Amino acid sequence: MGQLYQAISEVEENLSRLLNEVKSLRQYIEYLEEENVKLKRQLCAVSEADTARVQKNAARIQKEAHVNLEKLYSEGFHVCHIYFGEPMEGSCLFCNAFLRKD
Ligand SMILES: [Zn+2]
Repeated sequence: MGQLYQAISEVEENLSRLLNEVKSLRQYIEYLEEENVKLKRQLCAVSEADTARVQKNAARIQKEAHVNLEKLYSEGFHVCHIYFGEPMEGSCLFCNAFLRKD
């Protein structure tokens, strides 16, 4: 009888531990749902003007990056993904393809 009693006690302990885990998981889910709602609201708050500005800046950054790569290339360094930054002797097919040179 003592063994059975102990076994049941253990099951009870495990159950209450599980229950606690479920509770904390539920709290975490609530927190995540609130965060999700908040983020969605923030996303909607971004105006079209902001979106346009971000797109314009992204294009500018891309153009500037390309200009910098052209400069690096003209100074004799690889700008291709394979040898990037290494000194270049002659010409490199990858660099030319990357910069769309013939
Ligand atoms: Zn190269």
